[in-house]
Amino acid sequence: MDDATGQPTTTDAQYMARALDLASQAAARGEVPVGAVLVDRSSGRILAEAGNETEAAADPTAHAEMLAIRRAAAASGRPRLPGTTLYVTLEPCTQCAGAISFARIDRLVFAAVDPKGGAVVSGVRFFEQPTCHHRPVVERFDDAGRAAELLRGFFRPRRRRAGGDDPPPDDARPGARPAARSVTTSQLALPAEASAADPSSA
Ligand code: ZN
Repeated sequence: MDDATGQPTTTDAQYMARALDLASQAAARGEVPVGAVLVDRSSGRILAEAGNETEAAADPTAHAEMLAIRRAAAASGRPRLPGTTLYVTLEPCTQCAGAISFARIDRLVFAAVDPKGGAVVSGVRFFEQPTCHHRPVVERFDDAGRAAELLRGFFRPRRRRAGGDDPPPDDARPGARPAARSVTTSQLALPAEASAADPSSA
């Protein structure tokens, strides 16, 4: 993408890299590693960004997307955020998909698919429902490997601490494949790489 002067502007990959940094920072705080960056499409300016804060805030709704949306809306003094792109490292859940719609966000770019907790290309596919009144353009980020690895790395030691065996590969996990198979659009011919995510907390 170029700006009006022909100078290269920040790319999707750079914004997603920032979201991944926020996810890593969340993991270091003991949060589920998800990061989100909300960008004004015309200026390329980051309006707000966040990692998950559900543990620190003792708030089950404090997902990265929710926090970025709340912060940007509060800063703008308006409840809707048209003309923006939201970059998220993990497919948004039902709550966050609803918030993205309510906020009138233009475009959603996410990295890892979450067959167990997602609501965009998994689960309820909120944006495809007739009760959804604003649908963003949805794009999968090409390289979801780092986002998925962050999630796997986060949950693997937790399972070990809990006394469980190492989780089987994603494609051997019950629940992961059926969700992935149920996807019918071309976007979904992708590995269920984020199925290690705990849908109750991601
Ligand atoms: Zn969410």
